[in-house]
Amino acid sequence: MAIKKNAKKYKQAVSPQALTTREKVTRYMRANKSRNTQPELLLRRALWKEGLRGYRIHWRKAPGKPDICYPSRRLAIFVHGCFWHRCPHCQPAFPKSNLRFWEEKFTSNQQRDERYKIQYREAGWQRVVIWECQLYQDLDACLGLIKVLHRGVPASWEVAA
Ligand SMILES: [Zn+2]
Repeated sequence: MAIKKNAKKYKQAVSPQALTTREKVTRYMRANKSRNTQPELLLRRALWKEGLRGYRIHWRKAPGKPDICYPSRRLAIFVHGCFWHRCPHCQPAFPKSNLRFWEEKFTSNQQRDERYKIQYREAGWQRVVIWECQLYQDLDACLGLIKVLHRGVPASWEVAA
């Protein structure tokens, strides 16, 4: 009986070498969820503390389901992971393997971001991107920008983009 149990255990174990490249990538991506990430939670908590409440989370009615959205103020906030969206500020290192896969992935992310940017502009909404690294480096500055936009001061799209 004991032998049988052990045999089963052994069979179930998958050594890392047995994984294909594709499977490794899938595992990696699953571990990196895109919703309710640490930076998102950090910003949400900070906004709440600042009294900027009443936001919707991942609001379906706005393009790209913004991470934080104030529909009545026509304000959408995207918290971008630096790696996934290719941050221009901290310029994260490009993965060293599966170049083609990552290139396609990043390009499609960036194209999607660009599409949303246009949609928001056309709808007369304010769309602000907060990069993960900015959030950790200067949370106050991020909050300051959001406060201004929340107040409804006409924002320059250069600032908001
Ligand atoms: Zn960054």
